[in-house]
Amino acid sequence: MNRSFSINRNWVLFTDLDGTLLDADTYSFASAVQALRFLARRNIPVIPCTSKTFEETVAICADAGLDGPFIIENGSAVCIPENYFTILPQKTSLKKNAHIVSLGRDYTDILTFFNRLRNKFALTTRGFHEMDTAEIQSLTGLDKQRALLAQERGFSEPFILLSDKTLPEAAVTFAEKNEFKILRGNRFYHLLGNTDKGKAVKALKNIFRQNNTAVFKTIGIGDSPNDWAMLQAVDVPVAVKRADGAYAGGLNINNLRRTNGIGPSGWQEAVFNIIK
Ligand SMILES: [Mg+2]
Repeated sequence: MNRSFSINRNWVLFTDLDGTLLDADTYSFASAVQALRFLARRNIPVIPCTSKTFEETVAICADAGLDGPFIIENGSAVCIPENYFTILPQKTSLKKNAHIVSLGRDYTDILTFFNRLRNKFALTTRGFHEMDTAEIQSLTGLDKQRALLAQERGFSEPFILLSDKTLPEAAVTFAEKNEFKILRGNRFYHLLGNTDKGKAVKALKNIFRQNNTAVFKTIGIGDSPNDWAMLQAVDVPVAVKRADGAYAGGLNINNLRRTNGIGPSGWQEAVFNIIK
């Protein structure tokens, strides 16, 4: 027996967490609780697709009552609870009751390249591995417990620039030439392997297809440029309004929906508008 038999045949919803399902400042999903319950009653999978780590995402899934797959560290890995699908990709590893499908690079490779990048472009940066828990708390507003979980990185390095300069485009290109990627999230740049949320969404959609004969449609909800690849990989893309009342730029999709509500209240609004 496996769980894919109870998956709703109509929809799968992929969602960013910070600034989208979770309030940008408080990390609360309180304004989206009704929509989460509505989706749970219909067995519609809600798949977090986040820059957060495995450990952080597991904690949020537990809080929000989500028990399906999730995507971590900006598309670096797809994590599938044991017994969720019958058919799995050939190459997976097991971590705490979840099958891990890696699409990115190991953290040691990431840190080696981070230092190379910093030296080559004389960047004044500070990476997560150089910060203590208190500094991460002050940069993110996470409580100590969650900040500790954020430090348990497997595939990517968030970093800040210490000067007010923006990251040179040449550094981004250099990373890509070397099969790495630099993405911009809400608070940090992220150095990761040659993947993104869109690649991970496509990989997970394929696994859903292999396990479900019926056709389903996909929704994607995000708020930042690191979500655009995810929104391009779904049938119904949604940009939620950001805390400053604007939408992040740089996304050109014809069928993009924009919410009136900010963060989780926009998330709830989108769910009720799309799924009748
Ligand atoms: Mg976000």
